[in-house]
Amino acid sequence: MMKKSIKDISIMNKKVIVRCDFNVPMDENLNITDDIRIKSSIPTIEYLMDQGATIILLSHLGRPKGIPNKKYSLKPVAKRLGELLGKDVLFVDEDLIITENTKKIVGEMKPGQIALLQNIRFRKEETDNDPIFAEELASLGEIFVNDAFGTVHRAHASTTGITKYLPSVSGNLIKKEIDYMVTALDKPERPFTIILGGSKVGDKIGVIHNLIPKADNIIIGGGMVYTFLKAKGYEVGKSLLEETKVDLAIEILKEAEKADMELIFPVDILVADEFNNDSPYQCVKFSEIPKDKMGLDIGPESIKLFSDVISKSKTVIWNGPMGVFEMSNFAKGTEGIAKAMAENENALTIIGGGDSAAAAEEFGYTSKITHVSTGGGASLKLLEGKALPGIEALDDQ
Ligand code: AMP
Repeated sequence: MMKKSIKDISIMNKKVIVRCDFNVPMDENLNITDDIRIKSSIPTIEYLMDQGATIILLSHLGRPKGIPNKKYSLKPVAKRLGELLGKDVLFVDEDLIITENTKKIVGEMKPGQIALLQNIRFRKEETDNDPIFAEELASLGEIFVNDAFGTVHRAHASTTGITKYLPSVSGNLIKKEIDYMVTALDKPERPFTIILGGSKVGDKIGVIHNLIPKADNIIIGGGMVYTFLKAKGYEVGKSLLEETKVDLAIEILKEAEKADMELIFPVDILVADEFNNDSPYQCVKFSEIPKDKMGLDIGPESIKLFSDVISKSKTVIWNGPMGVFEMSNFAKGTEGIAKAMAENENALTIIGGGDSAAAAEEFGYTSKITHVSTGGGASLKLLEGKALPGIEALDDQ
């Protein structure tokens, strides 16, 4: 079902509440160390300003667990947003979020003005999705816009609760995520390839299960590989192994075989003595991992194999690093995937947020990727075929 966006309704001179994702990293002195999430919110805010809306922004920052804590104050965000917009952003510094003072300030706002309320997670009613709190939030405005993709997989007062009381639509950011991710999954141009990596099999099982009938190729790399190799009966040495997930891996292998889907695994592995960038390492065949070594990255033949599949695909979605990319000696597999995706200009290429997005950025490939998702957890849920409550709750077209 298509959801309404801000472009589908009249916003002229309305009071609009916007749920943003200003969950930015900060250093000990509360300086923002990466403002990409603030920058990403600007197209929606500027559109609303152009429409003469009065704009009330909501966001969480970190996990204050329902208790006001200056460490998680959104004040530095209000300042940074004001600088980026070239316009004052009123910071409503009320620990209880909605007080008489909040209502007074919001009541006196003029069209085009912008206010940011304090960290919504200072109230435990937020994560409890408390209906009274949601109604109070809704009473501040006339329209609700959700533009926080990073939290759409959570049913909280400011993501789903509030939608019961106001016309609710997506902002530009969420619309873009829906357009790319949902369309790619619903009607992929084929061949459709998915690449999964990262450390935990358990986190990705749901994705593999959902995509076996839908994808043309499923490539598996990263720390997950060794649980599958063990399931196939190979020696994995000291590599990362989830003993409790071996049976699940066996089931997945059977399921893929039944569906005539060949899961693509690395053919060679970089093995080291220790989990350390300075540890001596060598490349071995996947079937010949020595007992006293651990696999920390995919090898050059695997990079070639995976890149070849990627180059022949029309839709590519990637989630999870191919190796311990934080260590330069074991980052080549992850870099190779980012490069292969960037070089396939004929395909719709999507990176599902989190570590893979950070890696693509670090290696300088982001601008050549069609879409880099802003929500790792949310995009994983989409890949699992699960509904996202924050999107479900928006008005249908
Ligand atoms: P995840 O949190 O499950 O997305 O996994 C990301 C983490 O997996 C990264 O921090 C990588 O360093 C780690 N990782 C990838 N490959 C391996 C591997 N072969 N052994 C151990 N950790 C790995």
